[in-house]
Amino acid sequence: MAQTLLRKSVAALARTREIPTPALRPLDAVVAELQPHEPVHALRPATLARTAAHFVAGFPGETLYAVKCNADPRTLRALWDGGVRGFDCASPAEIALVRSMFGRAATIAYMHPVRARAAIREAYGRHAVRRFVLDSVAEFDKLRAETGAKPGTLDLIVRIAPPVVADAEKPLHDLSGKFGASAADAVALLRLVRPYARNLGISFHVGSQNADPQAFARAIAHADALAREAGVAVEVLDVGGGFPVAYPGQDVPPIDAFFAAIKQAHAACHTLGNTALWAEPGRALVAAGGSVVVQVQARRGNTLYINDGVYGALADAGVPGLRYPTRLLRASAADEVAFDFYGPTCDSADHMKGPFVLPGDIREGDWIELGQLGAYGAVLRTGFNGFERAHLIEVEG
Ligand SMILES: *Cc1c(COP(=O)(O)O)cnc(C)c1O
Repeated sequence: MAQTLLRKSVAALARTREIPTPALRPLDAVVAELQPHEPVHALRPATLARTAAHFVAGFPGETLYAVKCNADPRTLRALWDGGVRGFDCASPAEIALVRSMFGRAATIAYMHPVRARAAIREAYGRHAVRRFVLDSVAEFDKLRAETGAKPGTLDLIVRIAPPVVADAEKPLHDLSGKFGASAADAVALLRLVRPYARNLGISFHVGSQNADPQAFARAIAHADALAREAGVAVEVLDVGGGFPVAYPGQDVPPIDAFFAAIKQAHAACHTLGNTALWAEPGRALVAAGGSVVVQVQARRGNTLYINDGVYGALADAGVPGLRYPTRLLRASAADEVAFDFYGPTCDSADHMKGPFVLPGDIREGDWIELGQLGAYGAVLRTGFNGFERAHLIEVEG
């Protein structure tokens, strides 16, 4: 009995006491000591928390972090420290992870519009998820059958396809082909779902790394027109993710320009002007907080053979051909040169054409830091060809 009490009070203490975090060291010092021949994922919790705090403070509504972008617990913890309390999850594993870390203090929205029936039961029954997205009548039927929820107890968000744009204006990852109800289907679905929903919402995703604030404004106006046509009350307008970050060679407006465009378009709505706003940022919250250190294994002309590639953390440097900011981890006075990279696997598709700009005297054994890799980096690593191993370290912000 006494022992149980003691254990309980120790556990309570551990929960409430400020646990001092060991001071983090700069990345360069860690690499100098480690001399790593495998890729190193560097996480900067302070940068993550600061970026999250800026988004939470600037976005005029609720921020739901899109967990698929980086589900590392240290990343989730840093976002929490920055004030993020909502999570956009797409799978039972993501939901279980968020609940295990933050309990009921976290708000979870299950935003994948096509789910296994067992996944719906697990989310609703075991993890008490009450927010669900849908883009079809079939999914509505599944949600009702598998949750058995009484009318007026679920928040149901109808995902619509954003308005069609010209190819030249398409974002890095256009998601409109896979999910989202057409205009006519959305109107019918809003009417069908209304009597059953506690809160009814409309959501869209303008495509990842969308550099145009007006893409959000246009999608909001489109959602407004559909709500008006449906003639039903709507409580939530979810503007999705897609907020961009700066990669070399891309001109990206500051995040505040997106908040301003969203506020303005929301205020101009006929029907949705009083709805609560939600956002589901992924990349914009976590890209800057992570980088990858790679080692040069060979140099052939202006091509570098490095120890990470498109089957690892650099997936987006293959197709669609993203470039990352680069930094050589030693002093060099040489002029900068444009390089392309090959990754470590034997597949010729493991090529990153860049250009990646680095000092011209770069040589075998050098380490390079590639930035903006906190999003869609480490989580895309595969075991192909035996190159799954990597270090993960936390470093100074
Ligand atoms: C991937 C995804 C996001 C996050 O997108 P980013 O472009 O990383 O901001 C948000 N919502 C949904 C539904 C997604 O699938």
